[in-house]
Amino acid sequence: MINLLFDQNLDNGLAILYSILVLVALGAIFAFLLCLFFQIFKVKEDLRVREVEKKLPGYNCGACGNPGCHDMAEKLVSGEIKDPSLCKPGKKETNFDPIVAYLAANPAPIYEEETKKEKEN
Ligand code: SF4
Repeated sequence: MINLLFDQNLDNGLAILYSILVLVALGAIFAFLLCLFFQIFKVKEDLRVREVEKKLPGYNCGACGNPGCHDMAEKLVSGEIKDPSLCKPGKKETNFDPIVAYLAANPAPIYEEETKKEKEN
């Protein structure tokens, strides 16, 4: 097929058509590979991290010893940090108590696929 593209006798219109077909075929192949690799390498995120992060003050100040609130939320969810009051700007009523209550109510990881299935049922 490539030889056809460089054939001197080939009509220019046909060469353009072949070029378009080759580009479409390459696009389809790469789109398929992209979808395949996305499915193979996708990282399942525990949705509790997002919920805990929303309950933190969100200053990303690092006073808790973590680079930001997201890392603090990850460690709280994983159990690496048990005490949310390490967050210096946080308040007991508005931040710490809701986090402790949420993690007590949701001790197991929550993944997006599970929440979709629950909504469908
Ligand atoms: S101390 Fe609190 S506000 Fe600051 S980064 Fe840590 S969790 Fe976020």
